[in-house]
Parts: sequence; C-alpha cells; structure tokens
Amino acid sequence: MSKDELDKLIQTKILSNFKTWVQQFFEGQLVSITKCQRCERRSTREETFMNLSVDIEKNTSLSHCLKKFSTKELLNLGDKFFCESCNTKQVATRQMMIKMRPKLLLIHLKRFKMNFQTMQHQKLSYRIPYPTILHIEDNQIYKEDIVEEETKS
Ligand SMILES: [Zn+2]
Repeated sequence: MSKDELDKLIQTKILSNFKTWVQQFFEGQLVSITKCQRCERRSTREETFMNLSVDIEKNTSLSHCLKKFSTKELLNLGDKFFCESCNTKQVATRQMMIKMRPKLLLIHLKRFKMNFQTMQHQKLSYRIPYPTILHIEDNQIYKEDIVEEETKS
C-alpha cells in the first residue's frame, strides 16, 4: 500500500467515525422490521434519525402518538411487501422501533395533512399534551435477542 493510499484510508476511517456535535446530541437509530405473513421471514432495515416525525390525532397525547409510531402496520392490497423468500409480493407487517436513543430526543408533530378533496394541506391545530418526563415503553425499544427469540419460536 502506498503512502497516498494509506493517507486516504486513514482519512476515510477518521471521517466515517467523525460526528458533528449536532449528530452527537440528536442522532438516534431506528429499525424497521418487516415480517412476511406467508413464510414469516423477518427483514430489518436500520436508519438514523435526527428527529422522530409522529402523526397526531384529535384528543390524544404525545405518549399515545409515540405508541402509535411503533405499532405494527399491515402492508396489504396495493402496499404489499416484496418477500425475497417467497419471491413475490406478500401481505406483511411493519413495525418501527428505536434501536438507539439519542441524548436529546426531538419530536416533530406532523401538523399538516393532505386533504384529498381540496388537494391542499390542512393544518391540524389539535392540542397534544405531553408529560414532564417522557416514558418510552420497552416494547418500543429494539432488542436483537428478543427478536431472535421470537423468530425461533
Ligand atoms: Zn415470504
């Protein structure tokens, strides 16, 4: 390996491990878990986030919105999932879980919703109460061993 190649490798390694102070405080990691309903194959995809964007509803709290964020959704009809084991589109469930909590959690309330009748964004002015201390439940936190246990059974 030449000196130039070595310098380039070192620089790449340093830069890939370098995080800005914004990332150090606000970056977290999410896992999207998709499970085929036919063969039960589970696939996971990880992504980093700087804030959590949550849907809001009338007469709900922030805790409820967060719970709903991690609720399993059914991928059905036109929204089916391509399963690599079945090699076809299948009905599946998808769940978002938090793998790594950021030091500071930013939550973005989705206050604009598309109104398909008027084809305009409509502002949702709902009051969303939040607790002084936000508790994220254990079933919203991704743990690899639990997922593996579930797969075995
Ligand atoms: Zn499948």
